[in-house]
Amino acid sequence: MTDVGGGAGGSGRYFTIDLHLHTNRGSADSNLTPADLVARARAIGIGAVCITEHDNAWNLNEIAAQAAGSGVIFLHGIEVTTEMGHVGVFGLNEYVGGIYKLRELRRVVDKLGGVMIANHPFRYKLDPRFSFINPDHQAIDPSRPETAAKLEIFAMCDAVETLNGACSEEENRFALQVARQLGLAEVAGSDSHSKNSVGCVTTLLDEPIANERDLIYMIKARKTRAGRGLLAGGVAPFELPG
Ligand SMILES: [Zn+2]
Ligand SMILES: [Zn+2]
Repeated sequence: MTDVGGGAGGSGRYFTIDLHLHTNRGSADSNLTPADLVARARAIGIGAVCITEHDNAWNLNEIAAQAAGSGVIFLHGIEVTTEMGHVGVFGLNEYVGGIYKLRELRRVVDKLGGVMIANHPFRYKLDPRFSFINPDHQAIDPSRPETAAKLEIFAMCDAVETLNGACSEEENRFALQVARQLGLAEVAGSDSHSKNSVGCVTTLLDEPIANERDLIYMIKARKTRAGRGLLAGGVAPFELPG
């Protein structure tokens, strides 16, 4: 087995990607500077990092000089706020009016050959105290993934973020159960807003990618998995217990 990630973080046989994070350049609530991000990504030996600001696309030229020679691939996506939740998008290079509506987002992304991910689909949503944030204002029953799988957002997305660094274990497991019900691609992103959590969870690939098109292909072909452990010295896929 070839070692495709190979870095200090112990990614073993996997190529690792942090598919979701925010810098202070594009997200007011982040204190992760672009320079810190590049340095940190290099130090942990991650394969690729995707900068995904809220509703705007990052200009990768800003870090091109620092990123060159880092051994890490930097890509950009957009975390689009829609009426049905946050959707991670790759293949869209700028914000387009109207994509707050999930159906319009799907139309635009399809035209561009991009990919859509239901990000942290169950954050706070399994807690009855926060049921007002759910589409029908009902709490989602954590024992019924088959019911949650019928939520419209999943019919409109190619993948589910089954592992989000800022979600609870229960929320992530439930997202994984739903993704398995539907046969959607499984991905992971740290959702970092600061340096130390970059790469805390990662999307795993069996082979490296070189660019955004490769990433989109891998997600569409369902060749991704969610995993964690890069920062602890050993990456393992995220699986349901027992
Ligand atoms: Zn989000
Ligand atoms: Zn986010």
